[in-house]
Amino acid sequence: LVRIRGVNKHFGGVQVLHDVDLDVHSGEVVAVIGPSGSGKSTLCRCVNRLETISSGTIEVGGVPLPAEGRALSKLRAEAGMVFQSFNLFAHLTVLQNITLAPVKVRGVAKAEAQERGRRLLARVGLADKADAHPAQLSGGQQQRVAIARALAMEPSVLLCDEPTSALDPEMIQEVLDVLAELAAEGMTMIVVTHEMGFARKVADRVVFMDAGRILTSAPPAEFFADPGHERAADFLSKVL
Ligand code: ATP
Ligand code: MG
Repeated sequence: LVRIRGVNKHFGGVQVLHDVDLDVHSGEVVAVIGPSGSGKSTLCRCVNRLETISSGTIEVGGVPLPAEGRALSKLRAEAGMVFQSFNLFAHLTVLQNITLAPVKVRGVAKAEAQERGRRLLARVGLADKADAHPAQLSGGQQQRVAIARALAMEPSVLLCDEPTSALDPEMIQEVLDVLAELAAEGMTMIVVTHEMGFARKVADRVVFMDAGRILTSAPPAEFFADPGHERAADFLSKVL
């Protein structure tokens, strides 16, 4: 579903992604871990084309990057993104946040978008918050709205960049639970995370990045038993 080949990315003179190859199959959950500055966010942002790549190829659902115009809109719809900082529209209600893109970008009828939005809110446990504004919600609730908003575009893959890093500890689990449910329902996901419990239990594969390179890619049982690379072992010894 996502096919990344030989991707390099430079910011000015600095190379932040080195020859990255990654395949994510339909229904697969890939946890991306690694030290700060290793390029995890940049990789996610390249897949969604929030950043352009310097060389290499990325395909999402058979659409090759760089996409432009309508192809780019289609790509953005295919690859839903959930950010660390939620990025909800503060002046809109929860339901309006969720229905905005389907109505404006996909041309879904408003009533239909609202009905689907309410169903998605129920799915993330927030059926009663449709008319609230983001500021009235806890961080965990806001992030669950952000997940519902991403799902409203019916993406084929969900990209989550440290979805729980900005949350207070007691709210982390409710967001991880929603992601675990989506995974169980077969959603394809790339999740950048520092939550090793989530990586271990929910991911099908753990990808370890360091200094812009993917050093290892293995099923969690294998990875946590033997990280397979000195730098990965070193990283694990610090976070576990
Ligand atoms: P963290 O765990 O802290 O979120 P990360 O693995 O997500 O780190 P990235 O944010 O992808 O790392 O950053 C990778 C490298 O690219 C870093 O050295 C960072 O300083 C650099 N970088 C990221 N975004 C930009 C930008 N817009 N302009 C210049 N350099 C950038
Ligand atoms: Mg990051």
